[in-house]
Amino acid sequence: MTKDRRELARRPDTAAIPTAWEYAPAPESREVVRLQDRYGLFIGGQFVEPLSNERYTTIDPAHEEPLAEVAQAGKADVDRAVKAARAAYAESWSRIRPSERAKYLFRIARILQERSREFAVLESMNGGKPIRESRDVDLPLAAAHFFYYAGWADKLEYAFPNRRPRPLGVAGQIIPWNFPLLMLAWKIAPALAAGNTVVLKPAETTPLTALLFCDVVRQAELPPGVVNIITGDGHTGAELVSHPDVNKIAFTGSTEVGKAIQRTLAGTGKRLTLELGGKAANIIFDDAPLDQAVEGIVNGIYFNQGHVCCAGSRLLVEESIYETVISKLKRRMQTLRIGDPLDKNTDVGAINSKQQLEKIGSLVQSGVDEGAEIYQPPCKLPERGYWFAPTVFTNVAQSYRIAQEEIFGPVLSVLTFRTPDEAIEKANNTPYGLSAGVWTEKGSRILAMAQRLRAGVVWANTYNRFDPASPFGGYKESGFGREGGRHGLESYVALDDA
Ligand code: ADP
Repeated sequence: MTKDRRELARRPDTAAIPTAWEYAPAPESREVVRLQDRYGLFIGGQFVEPLSNERYTTIDPAHEEPLAEVAQAGKADVDRAVKAARAAYAESWSRIRPSERAKYLFRIARILQERSREFAVLESMNGGKPIRESRDVDLPLAAAHFFYYAGWADKLEYAFPNRRPRPLGVAGQIIPWNFPLLMLAWKIAPALAAGNTVVLKPAETTPLTALLFCDVVRQAELPPGVVNIITGDGHTGAELVSHPDVNKIAFTGSTEVGKAIQRTLAGTGKRLTLELGGKAANIIFDDAPLDQAVEGIVNGIYFNQGHVCCAGSRLLVEESIYETVISKLKRRMQTLRIGDPLDKNTDVGAINSKQQLEKIGSLVQSGVDEGAEIYQPPCKLPERGYWFAPTVFTNVAQSYRIAQEEIFGPVLSVLTFRTPDEAIEKANNTPYGLSAGVWTEKGSRILAMAQRLRAGVVWANTYNRFDPASPFGGYKESGFGREGGRHGLESYVALDDA
């Protein structure tokens, strides 16, 4: 990072913090987590050494300290994992009764609940997200996903009446680093419920909760090979995508990699779902409950440091309330606590990696260069680790990169509108179409907006709210296919007409 960019991340500000309360430190203990020095690959129900013989170190981004060594799976390792998944599919998982499959999924859900503190602490250690979020969002939702799909496992005929649902076989699943365990749950739960076996690759920077999940798989006594977890970077992912014996690929990550995967799979007959980037509009009308809306704006963009594909990263405010909303937002930003992810009072944790910090810095710099006005609340960022202060840009033109490109950081770009038509026009004016938010007192306006917003998910008077029963997914360059709900099963079954 250049010096200028570093200053953007840590702008010194001597102004007193007006409304933040002084809280004593409230760190969650790391004791509950027992890390191994090194991890192998989880294949066929046990940890094995990587045939590639390659490893790398995974770190804690808040302190830039090593946590463990993990394997970088190569082509032969991927092949071994796929073979284990294929054997488990043929010999056990596709044969056992659906009600038995449900029992395993219920067991996994229960174990995740029982061990949730351990998982939450590890998630925050390896990913940098505040413990409050891992504890109250990631873990409960991950368990809820397994509970939800456990319920479907023996009711697939009701999910797809008269269509004779059949499993696909082996699913290759590739997930990102922003919600490591939750994305694992989104992928594994519906796949297993529908009778498939899986090979899952977590993101290179956040493999540890997926590796701890292997312990849960064993504890639940899942037949060996039903779930296989291989670690590694994009090369490992690419090997999994191109393996000839995989029937389906489910990918969550960047649009760029999603496009490459789609090119690789074209013509192969493999099934594919892609959940990619976003640049969501969070639209505030003048009749909205403004204090509530400001909470929604903050939650929309600063939750998980903005490392959220559906983040409300473009704020569209009705012109008549612009000044009020911006001043309320800035005041609220001054109360955000940035720092130690394991402190229970922390609102904004560490940026997930150096690479991501550099990307955020460079896009923020482009915003300044293009003429937008930047605001960051006075806050002290820790010396070590990767940090970026919550940022808001005003005076943003639609053509600016910060209004078009996904930043995947705690950076909000504000635009204004005068009429609902203008709001729609601007909201839909990006290559993405994953999510949107609408804040208004009028129910009829919510429905009218939701009809016209080109977004897979539209939240009304709330933001970033998730439920396993509710489908999630995008349009345009945000990808295709849905995860969650009955729709989420559809990607894991073949359907015949009865
Ligand atoms: P980000 O840019 O946010 O890190 P990526 O799309 O690069 O998102 O990463 C998401 C996931 O995709 C990670 O698990 C990563 O290792 C994997 N990945 C990266 N490149 C490829 C590729 N060419 N093929 C398959 N998977 C990949």
